[in-house]
Parts: sequence; structure tokens; C-alpha cells
Amino acid sequence: MPTISDRHDRFYNAVLAVNQMMVTVRDEHVLYRELCRVLVEDGGLVLVWVGRVDQASLQVKPICNFGAGGEFLNDVLISVDQEIPQGRGPTGVAWREGRPKVVNRYREEPAMLPWRDVAQRYGWRSSAAFPVFRQGKIEHILGLYHQEEDAFDDEVIRLVSALTQTVSFALENLDHESLRQDMEIQLRQVAQVYEFSSQPMLVLDESGRILSANHAYETMSGYPLDELAGRHPPVFDETFQFVLHARSGGLLANQNSWQGRVWGRRRNGDSFPQWMVINVVPKTEASAASFVATVTDMTDRMRFEDTIWRQANLDLLTGLPNRFLFHTRLTEEMVRARNHQDIFPLVLFIDIDQFKQVNEFMGHHTGDCLLMEIAGRIRGCAGERTLAARLGGDEFAVMFSAMSEAEQHKMAHSIGECLVKGLREPYELAGSERSLYMTTSVGIAMYPRDAGSTETLLQKAEQAMYAAKAAGRNQMVFYTRGMQEQAIERLNLLQDLRNALAEQQLFLEYQPIIRLKDGHLVKAEALLRWRNPRRGLVSPGEFIPLAEESGAIIAMGDWVFRTSADWVKQTLQRLGDEFQVSINMSPVQFRDPNVSVANWLQYLQAMGLESQHVVVEITEGLLMDASEEVSRKLLDFRNAGVQVALDDFGTGYSTLSYLRRFDIDYLKIDRVFVSSMTHNSSDAALVEAIVAMAHKLGLKVIAEGVETDIQHEMLRQIGCDYGQGFWYSRPLDEARFQQLSGRFPLQEDAA
Ligand code: C2E
Ligand code: MG
Ligand code: MG
Repeated sequence: MPTISDRHDRFYNAVLAVNQMMVTVRDEHVLYRELCRVLVEDGGLVLVWVGRVDQASLQVKPICNFGAGGEFLNDVLISVDQEIPQGRGPTGVAWREGRPKVVNRYREEPAMLPWRDVAQRYGWRSSAAFPVFRQGKIEHILGLYHQEEDAFDDEVIRLVSALTQTVSFALENLDHESLRQDMEIQLRQVAQVYEFSSQPMLVLDESGRILSANHAYETMSGYPLDELAGRHPPVFDETFQFVLHARSGGLLANQNSWQGRVWGRRRNGDSFPQWMVINVVPKTEASAASFVATVTDMTDRMRFEDTIWRQANLDLLTGLPNRFLFHTRLTEEMVRARNHQDIFPLVLFIDIDQFKQVNEFMGHHTGDCLLMEIAGRIRGCAGERTLAARLGGDEFAVMFSAMSEAEQHKMAHSIGECLVKGLREPYELAGSERSLYMTTSVGIAMYPRDAGSTETLLQKAEQAMYAAKAAGRNQMVFYTRGMQEQAIERLNLLQDLRNALAEQQLFLEYQPIIRLKDGHLVKAEALLRWRNPRRGLVSPGEFIPLAEESGAIIAMGDWVFRTSADWVKQTLQRLGDEFQVSINMSPVQFRDPNVSVANWLQYLQAMGLESQHVVVEITEGLLMDASEEVSRKLLDFRNAGVQVALDDFGTGYSTLSYLRRFDIDYLKIDRVFVSSMTHNSSDAALVEAIVAMAHKLGLKVIAEGVETDIQHEMLRQIGCDYGQGFWYSRPLDEARFQQLSGRFPLQEDAA
């Protein structure tokens, strides 16, 4: 039988062993496991276990044990709930009261009743429970069992209590250790954020010298850290130095932060805009004040802003300033001119002659290439103090501020001449076999002679440009007062034209078309006439372009179609079933989606007129415009049986390939060829070739402008199908046409 002092000795040894062990253990679980083992093996206990209280159920869950009967812990209920018998054992008391609880006579103690059988089985005669504190709170309960009664005397209780205090201390140490490790990790993370952030950052000392730079800063600046350390950040301007110096003057000291744009310098010498935010890190007991600077490369941002500016101010195709920028700059110059009277601005308004045809005949891509080439040439004519711009479409403008009125005149002449001559040079465009020949009309207006404001100066230059066009294009024209009157007159004419239809000033004349083979009158062309009470008869050459520009042609064309149809219906009765009326149609009518071919066809149907009595005259330009709207309208006419004549053939591009693409029935050879064929043998040959070629393509030919019997005879011999011209008859109004029909068929001797 071991004596009490034996028992104490064993406990001393065990406590020493545990203390030693705890110096090295870094893990809570290992600590407890060793504690239990040493107490059993060295301390002579039967079973030692450590339990944790589950706050929800108040049950005590073993987290580790050593010795005989450990398995029982899984089967029995131990609680700290005072309300139940299993909660009133030593564990429950130790938990609730926060002090060791000893039961030295296990078998006699009523509180131990719930576990008496197990105790019997494993030979426990005494038991104790000790709370283990951590940071002032009970964390665990240490349960001890001994095979002797009265095993837990005061000395043992003192020893075990000391032991649990050591455990508490060890646990708290572990806590501190993990906290320290956490902080280290956090610090390392912060350092990593700094180091690996894509945001370039610098840490500067109080004098603004670099203490450290992160990787992103090194990449952005091109400087490795060892070159940066100890020097001021590589920037061009003084701003930054100023900010740093200002700190000693109290600026940053009060503000704690500063931000602004700074021109940075890369290692390769390039400058680049950067946005710098500098924060002051205040001085502490351990460290001096410092700055943390975050630096953002603004290059892309500035590029983006630059793009926005370009889009708003430059013409995207040619790169020239656009109308908006031109206007802004001209206004600035005009303000200066008015306020200081030391400059004399002038404007040249440039319009490319018949540019529309390039787009129509050769496609928009060629048109674009041509515009770029033109822009380059205009730039070439514009020297210093000159601004060239594209106002839109084929309109350009150049502005120059002269120092005197004498210089103003001189420069207007020289720039104007350069433009007219330079833009006349042939254009060799990539992808185009032929050289392109263009001409230009330039209008010039000068301040203060012609206008006092931006708007009027531009307007007058434009009027002068129109005058250049009217005078035959390919020239420059200076603005004169008379032009103003002409412009006003144009406006008045347009006003009158708008009322013409409603006021029944329009009427039609019909010009006979003769079949050359037998002299029969088989067709007539309807020609529009406008008689204004004040102006008298206005020629179609004057008012039709105006009607097209203003859109008035839509309503007028509709009226022409219906009136011609009515007329041919009546005329058929006199002139026979073959008779046709030929109606001129403007490209504007074909392109406008509001103009409906179906409406006209319905009209014909409603009045009982077969559509083969109507021929539509179109121009070459229209066929080059292969837009869906145009193609569909042509097809609608074709499908309904309305024939199509190509008017003024030979004056446009006369490309024959499109004749096959569209169903054309008649070719009308322009009168310039007909008039020259009698005295120019090559023109005669040309007409003959056109007729032969048209016949091969299955087209009939109408010669326009036949004025003499010789022309008539030549055309007849060539094999031309039809003739139209003053020699047969001038265009006639309805009544006179009726009288005329008796003249046909032409007698052979008339020819
Ligand atoms: P166009 O279609 O080529 O019409 C023929 C023009 O030649 C007419 O001029 C006619 O009077 C003229 N002409 C006829 N025979 C001779 C001749 O032997 N010698 C000369 N020197 N001229 C002759 P007009 O009536 O002045 O019409 C001019 C143009 O106006 C027409 O040319 C046509 O393009 C357009 N036009 C006329 N009426 C209409 C219309 O109702 N709608 C549209 N869109 N255009 C029309
Ligand atoms: Mg015609
Ligand atoms: Mg014609």
C-alpha cells in the first residue's frame, strides 16, 4: 500500500514533468494530451480527462483523456446544469463555482449516484474536478480519478491547482503567440498589397526623398528601386517640389493630404502626366513623419480625352478641323479683329464641282479617297496663320488673318489661286485605273469690307462660291454686293415656286417624237412650264434645280404624272393605240421613300389607261445609285409595263455596263451630239456607234435636239429609231398640239 508521501512524491514528479513539457508545446491539444498522460503515468491517477462545456446543452464534452475507463466518458452524461442529478457532480460544481471540487468518498457521496456503477467497474474511490481558466474565464474542466479514498488532500489540491494555473498561463501564451502571428501575417499582407498592387505607390521621408517604391511604380517609371531610393520622385515640374517644401511652411501639416497633376519622367526620358495623391503619415513615438504617395499614370486618360476632343472638333475622314472648330476659331479671330483692329480675317469657301457625281458614279469609297486627297491639297495651300477645315460633304473652308488690308487682298488671291489650280491637278487614286479630273469653285469674303460677324462672313464667302459656280465653275470669285441681291432673288424665286402649284401657274407642253422610219408621230415628251404673273415664263433650267433642292419637285412631279396621263388618254383616241407620253422624273423623286410608284399605277388603272402608254425618263446618275429604293421603283415600273428611257445620254459618265443591269427601253442621245454631227465627223461616228451598240443591247434610240433636215436624214440613215427636236416641232401646249397632229406622218419630201 503506497503511503501518503509516496502519493505526494508522484504528484510532485508529475507536476514538474508537465511544467517542463509546457515550455516547448505550441499546440493546445498536444498540451492536454501530455498533461493527462503524465498525470496518469507519473502521478498515479486511474483516469484524467479534460472536458469543454457546450453552452447550448450545458453538457460536458471530453476533448481528451488518458487512463482506464476513458471510454465511459462517451456513454455517460456529465453536465453543469444544476437542475439535473448529472449536473451536481464535481464537474458541475467546479464549473458553477469556479473552484476545485473534490469527492474523496465516491461510493458514499449521494451526488455521485448517477455514476456509481461505472465507478464500481473501474475502481474509482475518489474524484476531483478543477476549472482551467483562460483570459479570466473558465475554459475547460480537468477531471481526475483515483483508486484510493481520500486521495485529494490539501497538498494534492494545491499541487493540481498550481498545475491548472500553469496550464492557463500556457494557454494564454499560446493566445499571444497566435495573435502575434496574426499580426505578422496582416503586416505581411499589407506589405504585399503595397508591393503587388497595380497602383504605383511611393513612401517618402519627411524631406520628400524616396524610402521605398512598389513594383507597380518601378514598372511605370522604369526606374529600379535602388535607383529611386534616397532621391526625390522623378518628376519634371516644380509643383511637386513646391508641395514638399510647402510642408515645412505648414501647408501639408495642416491639410494632411495633397493631390494634383504632375508631369512625371520615365527612366527613358519620356514625360507623362500623372495624378499624385500624397498623404501624410504623422510622426509617432517610434517613427518620424513620412508621406505615402499614390501615383496614377494619366496617359490613357489624356488620350481618351484627346479622342473625345477630336471627335467633337475634327472631321473624322480628313482629320481637318470640322465646321464647329472652324466657327469657334473664326469667332475668336473676329472678336480680336473688332476689339484691337490689328488683324483682318478672310474666308475662302471651297466647293468641289460636281462632286456628287463621283459618289454616284464611282461609289462612296472612291468619293472618300478623293476627299482625303483634296483635304491634303487644301492643307498644302494653307500656310502659317491659316486654318483649313472641312465644313461637311464636299465643302471646305480656309481662314486667314492678315496684318493689313493690303496683305488681306494679296493672300486672298494667292490662296484662292493655289486652291483652284492645285485641286485641278489630276487625281491618281489607289485602286482606280483612270486619273480623275475635278474642278473647284472658291468664294472669298473679307472682314470688314464684306461682313462684320462670323456668320455673315461665312455666308458671303458661300454666296461668292455660288457665283463662281454660276459663272462656269473652276474659278475663284470675290464677294460683291450684287451677289447679295442674287441670293435674295433666289430666295424670292423659291418662295414663288412654292405657291406655283397651288396657284395653278404650272402647265405642260408636249413635244412630238417622230418614228424616223416612217415619219409617224408616236410619242410626245411632257415638259413642265411655269408662268408667274410677275416674272412671266420661267425656264425649267432655272426652276427645276431649285424645286429639287427644296423638295417642291415631289408635289410638282406628281402633278406632272397625273396631268400627262390624263392628256395621253384623250390623245390616244386621235393618234392611235401606239401613242405614248414620256414623263421626266427627277432623281429626287426616285430617292424619296415617300414617293410611291404604286399610287401612280393605281391612278392609271382607275382611269382605265394601260401602262404601256407611259414612258419614264430618267438620268444616268440615277442608275449609278444602286440604292434599294431606286432599284425597287425602277422594278415596280418595269413590272407594271411602264417603259424607261435614259435621258441626255452621253453627258454623264456614259458607262454602258449598267444598261444591262437595269431594263432600259430607250436611249435618248443628248442634243450636243446631234447638233455637232453634221460638221464633226467623229461626232457623227460616235452617234452611229451609240445606235449600233444600243441595238445590240436591245434598246431603241431617240435623238434629241434635231434642228435641221440634214440631221434628220443622217439619223435616219444611221438607223436611229426616233427623232425629237425643233425641226419636227417645238414643245406645244395642249391646244396647239391638237392642231399640229395633222402634219404627221411626215412626207418623205419634208426630209
Ligand atoms: P430634257 O428632258 O432633255 O428635255 C428636252 C429639252 O430640250 C427641253 O427643254 C426641250 O424644250 C429642249 N429641246 C427640244 N428640242 C430641241 C431642239 O431642237 N433644240 C434645242 N436647243 N432644244 C430642244 P426644256 O423644256 O427647257 O426642259 C429642260 C429640262 O428640264 C428637260 O430636259 C428636263 O430635264 C427638265 N424637265 C422638263 N420638264 C420636267 C418635268 O416635268 N420633270 C422633271 N423632273 N424635269 C423636267
Ligand atoms: Mg427629257
Ligand atoms: Mg434630254
